[in-house]
Amino acid sequence: MKIGIIGLGLIGGSLAIDLRQLGHTILGVSRSPKTCQQAIARNIAHQASPELSILAPAEVIFLCTPIAALQSTVEQLIPHLNPATILTDVGSVKAPVVEAIAPLWQNFVGGHPMAGTAESGLDAALSGLFIDRAYVLTPIATTPSSAVEIVSEIARSLQSKIYQCHPTDHDRAVAWISHLPVMVSASLIAACMAEADPTVLDLAQKFASSGFKDTSRVGGGNPELGVMMARYNQAEIMRSLHAYRHQLDQFIEQIEQENWTELEKLLAKTQRDRPSFLSP
Ligand code: NAP
Repeated sequence: MKIGIIGLGLIGGSLAIDLRQLGHTILGVSRSPKTCQQAIARNIAHQASPELSILAPAEVIFLCTPIAALQSTVEQLIPHLNPATILTDVGSVKAPVVEAIAPLWQNFVGGHPMAGTAESGLDAALSGLFIDRAYVLTPIATTPSSAVEIVSEIARSLQSKIYQCHPTDHDRAVAWISHLPVMVSASLIAACMAEADPTVLDLAQKFASSGFKDTSRVGGGNPELGVMMARYNQAEIMRSLHAYRHQLDQFIEQIEQENWTELEKLLAKTQRDRPSFLSP
């Protein structure tokens, strides 16, 4: 199959590496000519160019630019496409993306591979990034089932676990497990840094070990990604942040009132519930 990939960064580059290994012909487009040259030199893409016109023969095109560039990219791409071409994106938020692109192109399937690292750009692209990871497709009533089937088939060939849901359910679910954790973790780092006694802050920084490393990891990541989550998933992230603040108040109340039995009940329940969020 001839597969187009627009945005040769972490996700686009990783898709290109795996899909080429699977025998597909990869046509890459990226903003910077240097990235395109690297993609060819490193055998990531068969052809690559900043020109969208090279994608005319592609049967399926993965849109892997930052979310802010998706709609304008599709608008510029459409004159080069034939109506059978399937477009799919990899954006981490789905409702605004599907709302913007579905009216422009009938054969569009919203998608989100739930895989990533803290790095970005083509140098961060990895082989096997999507193995055993959820790959969520968000078709709507007007999405042709043939297009959903083809994108599912490709995602399955990457050894991902395929899920389908409505774009708004996707955005609500990722608010809980991806976007809220970034804001909570960032707040943890900011709260620690607000310690007014420099001796105590210095000691805390020296004592920090695996627990702090785990809980601060996502809050210490790329600020652009955090802003993207808040900007494009604002309603759902606000909903989860308010619920989180309410939950924090429950803990504060039990501790203030020295209600150790209730506190233990809360913590025993979270201990029981945590495994249900983690793959075996
Ligand atoms: P990234 O590493 O920064 O890659 C995006 C690449 O797109 C950039 O390296 C840039 O390459 C290129 N680009 C930027 N604007 C462009 C444009 N207008 N036209 C063509 N190419 C353009 O970012 P990423 O992490 O792969 O994220 C890409 C998409 O995947 C986003 O929509 C994000 O929501 C989604 N996603 C990210 C993750 C994650 O954990 N990172 C996980 C799942 C989904 P050059 O400037 O070098 O050409």
